[in-house]
Amino acid sequence: MRFTGEHVDYVVIGAGIAGASVAAELAANGSVLLIERENQPGYHTTGRSAALFSQVYGPDQIRALSRASSRFYQNPPPGFTEHQLVHRRPVALMGRSDQADTVHAEFEQVRGRGDVSLITGNQLREMMPLLREGYAACALLENDSADIEVHALHQGYLRQLRERGGQLRTTSEVLGLSNANGCWSIETNQGRSYASTVINTAGAWADEIAGLAGTSRVGLVPKRRTALIVDAPEGHADNQWPMVVDIDEQFYLKPDAGKLLLSPADETPSPPCDAQPEEIDIAICIDRVQQAFDLDVRHIGNRWAGLRSFVADGVPVVGYADDVPGFFWLAGQGGYGIQTAPAMARVAAALIKDDQIPDDIAEEGVEIARLSPLRRTLTSEVT
Ligand SMILES: Cc1cc2nc3c(=O)[nH]c(=O)nc-3n(C[C@H](O)[C@H](O)[C@H](O)COP(=O)(O)OP(=O)(O)OC[C@H]3O[C@@H](n4cnc5c(N)ncnc54)[C@H](O)[C@@H]3O)c2cc1C
Repeated sequence: MRFTGEHVDYVVIGAGIAGASVAAELAANGSVLLIERENQPGYHTTGRSAALFSQVYGPDQIRALSRASSRFYQNPPPGFTEHQLVHRRPVALMGRSDQADTVHAEFEQVRGRGDVSLITGNQLREMMPLLREGYAACALLENDSADIEVHALHQGYLRQLRERGGQLRTTSEVLGLSNANGCWSIETNQGRSYASTVINTAGAWADEIAGLAGTSRVGLVPKRRTALIVDAPEGHADNQWPMVVDIDEQFYLKPDAGKLLLSPADETPSPPCDAQPEEIDIAICIDRVQQAFDLDVRHIGNRWAGLRSFVADGVPVVGYADDVPGFFWLAGQGGYGIQTAPAMARVAAALIKDDQIPDDIAEEGVEIARLSPLRRTLTSEVT
């Protein structure tokens, strides 16, 4: 089927969590077309996450966006989903004795924000009996973190988009973008559409979309991260166990539907692609996890990899480009794009409409200058 000539207010490119959530927000006040190359929205990074909601993870703007998203997770709008979006899952950022200073420094940064405490290695071992005796010296425990039902969240936004009159078009790849007199022409393998505003939510491909539009790239670097599912020692992982993350992010482990989800927390730069796990990363993962936990990995169930995309300062890119009219960025969500999506979509929708960002989000410390594609730290070297 070919589409020709339709004109909408907003074309959103990429139907992962970023595109679905901002498209749903925008559809409350305008006509929206959400375009996705794959036949399944969520096929790429959105469908490959560890599904964590943590308010102590990531740089300060991420933490602010996560805090601002927490009310949505606890109380989604009526009719958004029939599922509970979050289930409590404490997270322990753990350190050996040589990492104890880092744990303490991290704790000082988040003290008083949410339900966080410092615990000893022995206390952590009482919560997570697989931990080897004497391995951990201490941990920063976040008690009010959670597992996110990512599929329910994503589908909730797509349903909200449809209910508000917006359209999702899958198997539709954006191949060209041109602007004449303030009107965008969006060429896809299924035909052409027109829009006043284009929103770039193409994940790892966001810089490529910028290239098509003739606007400056932001220096996005997709980084591959691997995950695998293994059996727990007694055949069943206790769902009460916390997620345990090495404080220097060398590995993490969390219960997942009776099994264990492991990751080496790898960050290997990659071109945008359908990322696949590498044997070496799986081997590194098992080695690191087995040093910390009493776990004999004999069989790997599922394994996958996904791309977490970052700019140099690690903060998402949200705002209009200044060198072409009506081109809006919502990219660079790194490893936090699910947990921050509810607030990020509301911030983006407000800025797209030239409104102030909502007060409840500003009050959490979200600053639009820090998210702007025009900020100076965007492409500076990471220190
Ligand atoms: C192993 C792993 C663990 C993670 N854990 C967490 C976590 O615990 N918590 C958390 O919050 N985040 C986590 N993340 C990060 C999170 O998954 C991402 O930040 C988020 O999914 C990014 O969403 P997105 O919509 O920007 O990208 P994507 O989901 O990749 O969506 C972009 C879409 O754009 C489409 N597209 C690209 N080019 C075109 C084109 N030319 N035409 C049409 N469509 C196009 C793609 O097909 C794709 O579907 C994790 C990621 C990984 C890989």
